Amino acid sequence: MLYFTKTKEQALKNLNSNPEKGLTLDQIKKRHQEFGLNKFTEKKPPSAFIIFLKQFNNIFTYILLAAAAVSFVMRENKDAIVILAAVVINVIIGFIQESKAQNTITALKKIVETTAKVLRDGQVQVINTQQLVPGDIVLIDAGDKIPADARLIEAFNFQVDEAALTGESKHEDKEAGLTLKKGTLLADRKNMVYMGTVASAGKAKAIVTTISNKTEIGKIATLVEETKEDKTPLQKKVKKLSIQISFIISILLLVIIIGGLLTGRSLAEMFMFAVAIAVGAIPEGLLIAVTVILAIGMRRILKRKALVRELVAAETLGSTSVICTDKTGTITTGQMTVKKIINASGHEARDNNLEQILKIGLLCNDVQIDNHSKFIGDPTEIALARAAQKASLNKKELTQDLKLVAEIPFDPYAKYMSVAYKENTSTLIYTKGATEQMLNFSKQIYLGQNNIQPLTPEKKDELLKINADLSQKGYRVLSCAYKKLDGDKLDIKKVCCENLIFAGLIAIRDPIRPGVKEAIELCQQAGIEIKMITGDHKLTAKAIGHDIGLEAGSDEILEGEEFSKFSYEELKNKIPKTKIFARVEPKNKLQIVDILQDQQKVVAMTGDGVNDAPALKSADIGIAVGSGTEVAKDASDMVLLDNDFKSIEKAVEEGRGIFDNIRKVVLYLFSDLFQEVILIGGSLLLGLPLLISPVQILWVNLAEDSLPSFALAFEKKEKDVMKRPPFKLRDPILNYEMKTLIVIITIVSDFVLLALGYYFWKKTGDLNLTRSIVFTGLAIDSLFFIYNCRSMRKALWRFNPFSNRFLTFSTIFGFALTLVALYIPLFQNILG
Ligand code: ATP
Repeated sequence: MLYFTKTKEQALKNLNSNPEKGLTLDQIKKRHQEFGLNKFTEKKPPSAFIIFLKQFNNIFTYILLAAAAVSFVMRENKDAIVILAAVVINVIIGFIQESKAQNTITALKKIVETTAKVLRDGQVQVINTQQLVPGDIVLIDAGDKIPADARLIEAFNFQVDEAALTGESKHEDKEAGLTLKKGTLLADRKNMVYMGTVASAGKAKAIVTTISNKTEIGKIATLVEETKEDKTPLQKKVKKLSIQISFIISILLLVIIIGGLLTGRSLAEMFMFAVAIAVGAIPEGLLIAVTVILAIGMRRILKRKALVRELVAAETLGSTSVICTDKTGTITTGQMTVKKIINASGHEARDNNLEQILKIGLLCNDVQIDNHSKFIGDPTEIALARAAQKASLNKKELTQDLKLVAEIPFDPYAKYMSVAYKENTSTLIYTKGATEQMLNFSKQIYLGQNNIQPLTPEKKDELLKINADLSQKGYRVLSCAYKKLDGDKLDIKKVCCENLIFAGLIAIRDPIRPGVKEAIELCQQAGIEIKMITGDHKLTAKAIGHDIGLEAGSDEILEGEEFSKFSYEELKNKIPKTKIFARVEPKNKLQIVDILQDQQKVVAMTGDGVNDAPALKSADIGIAVGSGTEVAKDASDMVLLDNDFKSIEKAVEEGRGIFDNIRKVVLYLFSDLFQEVILIGGSLLLGLPLLISPVQILWVNLAEDSLPSFALAFEKKEKDVMKRPPFKLRDPILNYEMKTLIVIITIVSDFVLLALGYYFWKKTGDLNLTRSIVFTGLAIDSLFFIYNCRSMRKALWRFNPFSNRFLTFSTIFGFALTLVALYIPLFQNILG
């Protein structure tokens, strides 16, 4: 049925639903059976077989396969078989690791489920969007993702961004009252909303018409299933590094072969040298090790109650140098309570006066009560609804003879909310918002029934002073105003904010989360600047700042309205120094991110509303709070499941651990690689036969090195990660320290290995014995120096050698395999 051609009454009748109560439980059950879940048929993830085949697709495997082929041709059948076996083992290891990492990443992505507010059985419920059925009455607020295709039945200043569907990022005004002609284009159907698009302003009630694959977006399913995973900068860097190294080694190889041939060695022998170097020198395990570390890191961060949505964030976290955090809900608990109510004469409000203020707070309020008698909605409004409830005010009773005819929902730009109720032939306007705003909107003050007086400039100053005093004590303050007008056909946008009667101020306490102060101190120790951003009054923010150890002088606080007063150059100077941003508008957040990034800072920024999305996208790490809007979550790299600032600090800590571990693996594998190449090159220069054969190198790499390098991924983060400055994103992976270490490890171990080889070869002339000695030396050496790679800051003997179980196990396993190679006849034979 084309619902846009029908009236809303027809739609309700056709879908057999009730706009005030929603569907009954019985209806829902039946419709579930008939229509199924509201989700798209999922595309199958790449099959295990495909992931398996993918493992063959890399230079390392090509080289090994070529080496095996040439070995066959040269009748070195045993070698050829071992090399092929190595290919298989390597492919299996790669396959296991990649599937595990992939599974972790996919599983994590599924954790954030989308919910929808519905009216069912007469009550408001928050349900998983998959549970929606046709006929459900959904309640939509700004920032919600539209959960299914639906016909509007009520809309207040409601706008939808339909870019996901029409490709045009325009905010479309929507209206419930229209009926449209057949053939109206999708983009022009103003009385419909479509799944996957986003409510950008206002609020609405709608009846679900279509779900799952049959929705407009479901029909173009390709648009939805976009799971292309880009490589992170670090993965790209590692890949580049591997390619560079392989390139250098190829040149080296060529030089060695030509040099060898010129000095009279045989082609067959030189070929063995070439294969040995190729086998030893390609950092095949590196890229997958990085992916594994990132995936493990994501899981660790999740344990700290932060969900990394993009792999890239897991690594960027470690480099974070500024955290811009919202105050409300992240630094504070967001569980607000009304503590003081002050009337327009500046005293504690009582009786009729108190009732009037509470009534405005209750009627100009979007809070809903769900099926468990729990309030759902904005914490500020919940506080107001509770205070009214305590004073025995009941919204149903108060609105018995009223009809809500218009509403301007709260919006952080305007900092107020307004509603209009029709009462017989007149209209009641109730408005609440930031005190400065309310005083600007008001002409009179309410001092009790029949006692309404003009708002003089002196009175205004007095009330502003009270507002400042309350703010200074850390209260979140808002004010209420109202008026009654004759007539019921009004333009609310105009009348809601002029000539109001100011009723009073409400001071709300939002307690600070326990432990935030300590977390902020830790961040500061770690060289991370903290900046608090809030829509509240600057004095409220300053008081809260004081309590959490974020002491801000008057030149370290910047107000939203100052942004437009300063030039860009001035802002560039001011913003980095500012600790508290008060009364900001969402667009200021974007300016803050831009300027800080311009100064090479790595910025983490939190947000919750629709308007925060651009800043979240633009920040290096956009962090949405778990209770935030779907839009904010979509735009973010990480979601704070518990909304708590402490979780950001913990995530940064884990991020630093991830970066450390990646460096450790790089250090280990590269030291290994250089050791082997120099060992082989050295044999040639010293005029010795090849001191270690290709199959022996393969054995060392696979049996003794690959497991420990994997174990490094499980290395716990070091205790002092938060005591050092942040990593710089532009830092190369291999820093000066690491290069030095690689050189030292290579020189020392190769010196010993070459000396041993030289001695035994000259003394015994037994190549098998000599190789066995060098092989054992190389194996044992790499099992030992992995312990060096566990920390680049602390000496080996400063920490418990057994604290990483995986490492202990893989070291023992590595030793055992060395013994197997040396003493079990079958392997003695294969490995020569
Ligand atoms: P942040 O979440 O970034 O810390 P905030 O949530 O504290 O910011 P806003 O919600 O934008 O900031 O609130 C700014 C001001 O608007 C408050 O100080 C209060 O006076 C007023 N205000 C807040 N919520 C409402 C509301 N629901 N209705 C009317 N006014 C409100």
